Amino acid sequence: MKQLTGNEIRELFISYFRTQGHMVEPSAPLVPIDDDSLLWINSGVATLKKYFDGRVIPDNPKIVNAQKAIRTNDIENVGFTARHHTFFEMLGNFSIGDYFKEGAIKYAWDFLTNSEWIGFDEDLLYVTIHPEDEDAYDIWRNVIGLSPERIIRIEGNFWDIGEGPCGPNSEIFYDRGPEFEFDTPAEEMYPGGENERYLEIWNLVFSEFNHNKDGSYTPLPKKNIDTGMGLERMASITQEVPTNFDTDLFTPILSRIETVSGRKYGQSEDTDVAFKVISDHIRTVSFAVADGALPSNEGRGYVLRRLIRRAVRFSKELDIERAFMYELADPVAEVMHGFYPNVTERLSFIRDVIRKEEERFLATLDEGIQIYEQVREKAKAGGGVISGHDAFRLYDTYGFPYELTKEYAENDGLEVDEEGFVEEMKQQRERARNARKAGESMQVQSETLAGLTAQSEFTGYHSLRESGRLLYIVQDDQAVDSATEGTVELIFDRTPFYATSGGQVADKGRISNEEAELQVESVYRAPNGQNVHVARIESGTVKSGETFTLDVLKDSRDFITKNHTATHLLHQALKDVLGDHVNQAGSLVEKERLRFDFSHLEGLSDDEIERIETIVNEKIYSNMNVEISEMPIGQAKEKGAMALFGEKYGDVVRVVDIDQYSVELCGGIHVRNTGEIGLFKIVSETGIGAGVRRIEAVTSRYAVNLYKEKEATLASISGRLKVRENQVEKRVDSLLDENRSLQQKIKELQASRQDEKLADVTGDIKEIGGVPVLSKEVPADDAKELRATMDRIKSRAQDAIIALGAVNDGKVSLVVTVPKELTDRFKAGEIMKGMASTVEGKGGGRPDMAQGGGTAPENITNALQFVEDYIKSSQ
Ligand code: ATP
Ligand code: MG
Repeated sequence: MKQLTGNEIRELFISYFRTQGHMVEPSAPLVPIDDDSLLWINSGVATLKKYFDGRVIPDNPKIVNAQKAIRTNDIENVGFTARHHTFFEMLGNFSIGDYFKEGAIKYAWDFLTNSEWIGFDEDLLYVTIHPEDEDAYDIWRNVIGLSPERIIRIEGNFWDIGEGPCGPNSEIFYDRGPEFEFDTPAEEMYPGGENERYLEIWNLVFSEFNHNKDGSYTPLPKKNIDTGMGLERMASITQEVPTNFDTDLFTPILSRIETVSGRKYGQSEDTDVAFKVISDHIRTVSFAVADGALPSNEGRGYVLRRLIRRAVRFSKELDIERAFMYELADPVAEVMHGFYPNVTERLSFIRDVIRKEEERFLATLDEGIQIYEQVREKAKAGGGVISGHDAFRLYDTYGFPYELTKEYAENDGLEVDEEGFVEEMKQQRERARNARKAGESMQVQSETLAGLTAQSEFTGYHSLRESGRLLYIVQDDQAVDSATEGTVELIFDRTPFYATSGGQVADKGRISNEEAELQVESVYRAPNGQNVHVARIESGTVKSGETFTLDVLKDSRDFITKNHTATHLLHQALKDVLGDHVNQAGSLVEKERLRFDFSHLEGLSDDEIERIETIVNEKIYSNMNVEISEMPIGQAKEKGAMALFGEKYGDVVRVVDIDQYSVELCGGIHVRNTGEIGLFKIVSETGIGAGVRRIEAVTSRYAVNLYKEKEATLASISGRLKVRENQVEKRVDSLLDENRSLQQKIKELQASRQDEKLADVTGDIKEIGGVPVLSKEVPADDAKELRATMDRIKSRAQDAIIALGAVNDGKVSLVVTVPKELTDRFKAGEIMKGMASTVEGKGGGRPDMAQGGGTAPENITNALQFVEDYIKSSQ
């Protein structure tokens, strides 16, 4: 066995399969593209679904990749097992209807045991198979020559995630020796059991059935191979270290944590768990942010938030008291730079995002403690037990680990319902698993379109009208020779109709010949790359083999192209104004408007929007030429072309160059000169999820229409104000002034009415033992207003002791004054204490003036009565 670094293993794997005729697929971003069913890319096959379910036919049916993956279902294991991460890399080889079980097994065995490649000792390898998979058994036993006791039959070895391809699998295990048995129970001590001795390194999936909608299984027309090997696990074996964390993929991160904390890795089991959790989570978060995800309260963003919180709370084990995670992004970028340069490229943004989130959490940690305190009071009032539900809520919402809740509880002499907590955790895992199962399923292979191989040429870049021969008609998922009614799907040898892609919508238009008339409703791309026209038959019969005229609706196409070029200008203007971190997160280019989603943390200010709009319009006024050319990808990169995130490009790419201002790889249709766009106007800017903003804009005719609407609004306002348009502002200003002074007058009137009422109040003054006393409930919105009322009454009854109360929203406000000359006999503070306690509240103040309040409005009469009693008893 060779001593290999993580990078070397990755390279070796790819070059092995390349020499076996596989094409290399790049590592796709962790945030799935065009796939709402998955939260994260969680395996190598997840990015290749389109090939597996037949939507797209690959150039080469043999594929190899090194794919980054995030698995949050393994989070509870991270730090506690040697082999689980939330972020890891999966090395995989795939066959789309090419080689099957025997090929896959032979490749795997050759790669692992051949001394030119990995060179494992054969005697240390075990495999598991599905109990009924006699083919796999036979290949392992007779083709590879494994002895029967090394082939273990395990019921669970069947890969099935609902509708779509599925089949048995076979896993390969490496025996790390008896010293890794620790105190594992004997019944788990076998390859496939829950132990650290037999390490699962590679899973070979043989998908040979279609799991149909109705739950039945039928053999697949094309059998596929999908495999996944864990890079970090392989590294731990070849580097002969006890866990994945001790490999060169992690040690630079661990040593940075040592520097930050002043603690050493490898000193105690508890602190090691913290080292492992933090080093794992920082990789996940750094990569996810590099790929466009951001912390938030839901979905993907919530996963990042939880990971950062989990890492921060484990940092307490290392006595780290400050934001520090963001500094660890540096070693992550360094270690991975060779294969994943985008982490380095976006490093300062990644650091920023993590630091902000950490600081926020350090602040909410206090919030968590407050929530704990509420929970504690509830438990004290109840049976002295913190419910599993509350412990789970603290854990899940406030990032409060169960252990911490338990520690606090013990301190407070309380217990925690552990069973209840475990049950809640189980339910959450169940929910996650169901969500995953639902999410992972693939569409069922559509054989009809996949079988149509004759090519179709797209001529629409230069023409709007074409005569094309009808190659295929598909109706109700069946290829037919002719059709007379309903909706059909048509493929021609050539077409000017653009199929929906890259955000640009499909063309509209008509298809016709002497015998038939059709209306095109949509156009999409078939697995073999042809443009499929979904069209409604309006009259006649369509027959394959015949020639048709294909007419694209010019008006719609013209405005689409204006909006597409404007989108490119907008993209670059956003970068100019907001910074280079702005990346396209989605776009929609239609006839009437364009929509552009991009990564940015905050909402845009009016000034920023104004500047962006101005830049785009300036580019339009300066009549820039749009040059479109095809060139090798390397050359395009040299030109500085922006490649869209996660988009896959061939060797030769199409480059849209707007006079060097904006250079993008793009397959869409554009104007020849920016002047054609005419005018650009942003309609709205909104947030559509954490860190993703959306701009909607209009151009040309639709921008003019927007201005016309605004003009009409202005005209209608000036009509109603009965002034000329240029006088509108002045008139509005004077109306606002008038309004303000009217409001002032109303206030004054109200006050004087109040005064009149108060004059009545003074009639309620009683003489108690020669002392004038007024004790009364009055209307007042709050304590401030009550004080003002008091001041007014006092000015009319200067020698009286006055106590006022008011009730609002179930709360009582109280105020008392005692004339200076009476304060040696009666103290306002004392009167208030008695009043306030009567309404279950508090109060106090100086001898001549006191304030207070309470929560029992039903006792206000008693509180006011108290004043009179107090004065009587003090005489
Ligand atoms: P395990 O049972 O050990 O959790 P698995 O059966 O979930 O593994 P697969 O889904 O078959 O794993 O994934 C294929 C390979 O990817 C595994 O053989 C392993 O090498 C690696 N792998 C899977 N999950 C993880 C993880 N959480 N961290 C690191 N590597 C992993
Ligand atoms: Mg697993």
